[in-house]
Amino acid sequence: MRCITTLAELSALESACLVPTMGALHEGHGSLIRLAAATGAPTVVSIFVNPTQFGPGEDFDRYPRTLEADLDLASACGATACWIPSVEDLYPRGVDSARAEALEMALPQVATCPGLEDRCRPGHFAGVAQVVARLFDLARPGSAIFGEKDYQQLRVIESMVESDRSGENRWPNLRILRGPTVREPDGLAMSSRNRYLSEAERPQALGLSKALQVAHAAQRPATAEQLMRETLESHGLAIEYAAVRDADGLQPIEDFRRPARLLIAARLGSVRLIDNAPATIWR
Ligand code: AMP
Repeated sequence: MRCITTLAELSALESACLVPTMGALHEGHGSLIRLAAATGAPTVVSIFVNPTQFGPGEDFDRYPRTLEADLDLASACGATACWIPSVEDLYPRGVDSARAEALEMALPQVATCPGLEDRCRPGHFAGVAQVVARLFDLARPGSAIFGEKDYQQLRVIESMVESDRSGENRWPNLRILRGPTVREPDGLAMSSRNRYLSEAERPQALGLSKALQVAHAAQRPATAEQLMRETLESHGLAIEYAAVRDADGLQPIEDFRRPARLLIAARLGSVRLIDNAPATIWR
């Protein structure tokens, strides 16, 4: 596996399958890399902790950076190359102007639907959309894989690429692939942030996946939301949202006649955890 740090080296890998990450790789990332390798295209894993998607007071400075272990995991999962872009490559005018430019970007509607990530992390998806657009522009991949673990992010990126097909066609022929959420044996969704959890908090964190499981018994979205809230509260989690939404636009729904998604964000001390599942997975 190659380790790429310049745009000249990157240009030799056009039409690759790109797996964008912020490093601190775990088996969830590993599964995306294996899916990418299985496409048969050269597999490029980008590792970049993107400052523009972190808000003031969020964990950008303490975000885990584990490059050597990341390179080992990516190589073991079949990556052709790890691309470690510099801040200058992604943001030639500097991070401060990049932050300002991100806020000017036109975002798909799904990025700002009320009551979800945008309420808790205003500006987050502007930073995500900005860095992903930059990665696509520079790497010119044939496909890119994103995890369902970050479901709203996945829908934002799918929408960006779809709307471009009908509009400016900025990334012609780019396919977005989905990777299922990888969980610990007890159900906790793997996350780079799980390493912040103390031993005492670890069982509490299970409240998220348990909430998704109990909500399957509900006949109506409102009941599912109530059941999720009760489970999260009984685990001592501070709820940011526990919502049932339509699976595409993430708008509120009154019934389960269309594909729906259960979406949760909750805090445990200073750790913010998210999880989600299709509403119909257990039906
Ligand atoms: P991150 O490094 O957290 O920005 O994540 C990079 C990619 O890995 C994103 O597409 C995430 O959705 C995906 N990802 C993170 N955790 C998991 C998981 N547990 N299972 C599958 N994919 C994941």
